Amino acid sequence: MDRPAGGGVAAVMEKRGTGEGWRQLWAPWRSAYIRGTHRASTGCIFCFGALKPAACRRRLVLYAGPEASVMLNRYPYNNCHLLIAPRRHVAELEALSAAESAAISGLLSASVRILKKALGPHGFNLGANLGRVAGAGVADHLHWHVVPRWNGDTNFMPVMTQTRVASEHLEASFALLQPLFRRVQSPVS
Ligand SMILES: [Zn+2]
Repeated sequence: MDRPAGGGVAAVMEKRGTGEGWRQLWAPWRSAYIRGTHRASTGCIFCFGALKPAACRRRLVLYAGPEASVMLNRYPYNNCHLLIAPRRHVAELEALSAAESAAISGLLSASVRILKKALGPHGFNLGANLGRVAGAGVADHLHWHVVPRWNGDTNFMPVMTQTRVASEHLEASFALLQPLFRRVQSPVS
């Protein structure tokens, strides 16, 4: 079993048998997350006001600028899976202002730079799922995923005690990345 260099806890299973090979990210702890987000909304994870440091840690918020924020995904596909979102609760890409688009673009670059420095991944998946049918867990607040990837993580068969392992990773990931994001300046200020 190959363990990814970054200690990732997710796995990607390759399934074949449909005639053409296809790949499916497999992260079993996400089922609780998906069930949770289908319940009546009890508040949006991307909508928050000013946060004290303890609240940032609790919410896994690494950066909160005037236009956009960065947080760790509580239900990661891989170690240090980040989410970047506008501060405004908007679902549509075309609803973003120029300042919000610039801030998000800057934070995507900053996130890649910081993850390269902190973890040395071999590659990244970056992207946004627009709409629930496209796979968005939180469909009504636009957000981007930044997922670091390591050679061999597609072969990493998960995941023994997923929830516990994932939460330990989250605390360690927050402690690793938060000092680096403290130095990120708002791209639009
Ligand atoms: Zn929101």
